[in-house]
Amino acid sequence: MSAALSLDAWKSQAATLAYRNQAFIGGKYVPAASGKTFDCVNPATGQVLTQVAACDQEDVDRAVKAARAAFEKGTWSRMAGAERKKILQKFADLIDKHSTELALLETLDMGKPIRDSSKIDVPLSAGCIRWYAEAIDKVYDEIAPTGPEAISLIRREPLGVVAAVVPWNFPLLMSSWKIGPALATGNSFILKPAEQSPLTGIRIAELASEAGIPDGVFNVVPGFGETAGQALGRHMDVDCIAFTGSTEVGKYFLKYSGESNMKRVSLECGGKSPNIIMADAPDLDAAATAAAWGIFFNQGEVCNAGSRLIVEESVKDRVLEKVFAVGKKLQPGDPLDPKTGLGAMVDKTQMERVLGYIDAGKKEGAKLVFGGNRVRQEAGGYYIEPTVFDGVSNKMKIAQEEIFGPVLSTITFKDADEAVKIGNDTIYGLAAAVWTKDITKAFKASAALRAGVVWVNCFDNGSITSPFGGFKQSGFGRDKSLHAMEKYTELKATWIHIGN
Ligand code: NAD
Repeated sequence: MSAALSLDAWKSQAATLAYRNQAFIGGKYVPAASGKTFDCVNPATGQVLTQVAACDQEDVDRAVKAARAAFEKGTWSRMAGAERKKILQKFADLIDKHSTELALLETLDMGKPIRDSSKIDVPLSAGCIRWYAEAIDKVYDEIAPTGPEAISLIRREPLGVVAAVVPWNFPLLMSSWKIGPALATGNSFILKPAEQSPLTGIRIAELASEAGIPDGVFNVVPGFGETAGQALGRHMDVDCIAFTGSTEVGKYFLKYSGESNMKRVSLECGGKSPNIIMADAPDLDAAATAAAWGIFFNQGEVCNAGSRLIVEESVKDRVLEKVFAVGKKLQPGDPLDPKTGLGAMVDKTQMERVLGYIDAGKKEGAKLVFGGNRVRQEAGGYYIEPTVFDGVSNKMKIAQEEIFGPVLSTITFKDADEAVKIGNDTIYGLAAAVWTKDITKAFKASAALRAGVVWVNCFDNGSITSPFGGFKQSGFGRDKSLHAMEKYTELKATWIHIGN
């Protein structure tokens, strides 16, 4: 089991890794047509791991052609659900079988602790694909309640060519949330991983092939957003873009769609989630611990991070004391060390962006009460310590904009209505939490919070059975649960006249 490996064991495994670094089109690895590559950097050390194919329009054209041909051929798209199930289960089993290697790739590529990639990212990714595999031969279509003169069959059909453009914070997991339902419903699929973290997406392509997914059904085009991403977004023969990433880029995809073939677009975008702790929370220490993990987990590079701690004034000091205690234990370390709870920021740009927000917070008059610095510079990588601001007003930049780093903004309130008002006062609506033992208050707050997920007396809990996605400018469309299948299928009504 990978989780039991020591730092030395992970390091020696890392030293022998062979990187897959090309595109995967039509069932085989190929270089970019232009021959261009880009550096894939380990953010923990600043060293180059490998050179990855930099795909552009020509490669995207090849991938779409392969995907379309596979779809038309029907080997996958018209295969019985029970058969697709077996192949996807094998795919999930292969991800599990290679979990040590995949966890290592994820950590080296992205900087997250090996403890997380081996215990969270990889097993949840395999579990997600397996869940959709198991669902696909248990989902029934419908017959409309017409009169006796007709039968109307309401069926869901695969869309055709689905392209997923994903971010770097949970590279394998965000991809799997799209791979599972898109493939289970019979589509052909093209993955465009983020340029900061393409390695696991490229590696699983051959596992998909080994599992029996036909050539052309699963393709990967690594490359930059402005080239590979835009080419997919504007392609006349892509039927759907499933996007996860920033709100800014999400809006580009709406524009690309409008200016090309009106392809379907689903958007899972940014967040600025309020974590509301009321004085009557059932366990204030548990609430404070969850608040700390809710912002420091994955270096704060989490779309639903609880980046705004909205806490009742009377209990603020007690809550912050506990947050600091967790923060002290979570000082950044070598991501390959199984004891590390906080790794490196994904790259220099992201580190500088986060440090810029810390500066902005200070300048706007928020009180920096914990952390705030770049650390471990001697390692050559990009680390930021857990950081907490107190005395934040919800109008400040650090309360309104997504920082995407381990930076918590503390805002106080006096009554539940004010807390909800502050909670809703950003452009985002991805997630929210409320802590209170008063069930009426909890229900009223959860109903009033404009967010796709509201946690009550917990933070960031969930499972594949429950949908995930945003309100407002956090996007639309849902990942996870059976609802995700709606994104990858067209609803067709076949009206059969049987009357006179
Ligand atoms: P990003 O928007 O910069 O990039 C996401 C993807 O879009 C990448 O693959 C990138 O190459 C591509 N891209 C970038 N510019 C493009 C362009 N002009 N045209 C086409 N494609 C382009 O986001 P990121 O920095 O990789 O990830 C962080 C963001 O992702 C945060 O805002 C975070 O909240 C969000 N996110 C959301 C969820 C969710 O489920 N809602 C989950 C994870 C991350």
